[in-house]
Amino acid sequence: MNVPMTAATSRDMKKDDLIVISGAGGFIGGSLVRYYCDQGFTRIRAIDKKPLPEWYQRTPAAECLSMDLSEYSNCVRACEGATEVYNLAADMGGMGFIERFRVECLRSVLINAHMIEAAYRAGTRRYFYSSSACVYNTTLQQDPNVRALKESDAYPAMAERGYGWEKLISEMFCQEYWAERGLETHIARFHNVYGPNGTWDGGREKAPAAICRKVIQAKDMGQHEILIWGDGTATRSFQYIDDCLRGVDVIMHCEDLIATPVNLGTSELVSVDELVTIVEEIGGVRLERRYDLAAPRGVAGRNSDNTFIRSVLNWEPNTPLRDGLAKTYAWIEKQYFDRKAGKRIVT
Ligand code: NAD
Repeated sequence: MNVPMTAATSRDMKKDDLIVISGAGGFIGGSLVRYYCDQGFTRIRAIDKKPLPEWYQRTPAAECLSMDLSEYSNCVRACEGATEVYNLAADMGGMGFIERFRVECLRSVLINAHMIEAAYRAGTRRYFYSSSACVYNTTLQQDPNVRALKESDAYPAMAERGYGWEKLISEMFCQEYWAERGLETHIARFHNVYGPNGTWDGGREKAPAAICRKVIQAKDMGQHEILIWGDGTATRSFQYIDDCLRGVDVIMHCEDLIATPVNLGTSELVSVDELVTIVEEIGGVRLERRYDLAAPRGVAGRNSDNTFIRSVLNWEPNTPLRDGLAKTYAWIEKQYFDRKAGKRIVT
């Protein structure tokens, strides 16, 4: 994928400048390593606390390290010689995980606090932080027909318990390292990201992957029903991984977006029921719906207001949901049947 920079962005980088990416054993970090390799960058250091065999993707050309980045000494090693640092490491998952494990989510603050300090001391030129739409004031998200969230809606703050507050304080670290110490930081607030090579089973998966898996499983087992978390009316927007990667690249290299949080998501709002319908159509099946009203469901509605990103970058994530879901469904289906056949897979 060759990505042209927009007028507002420029990548003043040599191809052998060192790029450091944390969380590289996970979904977005692993995909970002591959993305920069594909762009011709020759020195990429990929880090995750997971043992190497458990990484979702391994790009052979990258230096891959298994280290816990909640320890400062490991962050120093990670950032040594780096021109750019992308921090995508966090203990996270879908609603089932972040509602239940708030302490683990909050403890990710250690990763960013240590990574940004290590990056600063290493003389890094730019630092990227992956924030989340979970920073937004939850009182603005109590209706499925929500107005889309614009960047200023994070304050006055009433973020998602645990995970959202951690993201908000880590954003503030990025803003103050720029204001007080002159480290150039960039912050994207990701709205739901989905695609191949993401978590699709095991408790940390998000709605698009979980629904794909349930439809695939129902077909395989000859079942005629699907269990949906919540009552199906909650709304969200979902962005395809390729848009997210391009967004990270252009946001990181935009002078107008230094220390300025910006939404990175689509504004194509769908309900959970609509999401299920699209996946059923892809799978060529109709299932009886049962609703688990006691399951974690998060806020009633959330959408991305893209006015700001469009005005700065003249671009916004634009892969149609149906197209991205078709690719994701095909990938999960292969994983599902590979697992059934006893082959090694990613969850
Ligand atoms: P992921 O869980 O697939 O990847 C995160 C990786 O971080 C994991 O591989 C994990 O092992 C690693 N990690 C956790 N603690 C670590 C530590 N102490 N040291 C080193 N590595 C550690 O998640 P993802 O979907 O790829 O998310 C990447 C980033 O984007 C995270 O910061 C997440 O909060 C943010 N985000 C993601 C989404 C989404 O929809 N996927 C939405 C909003 C924000």
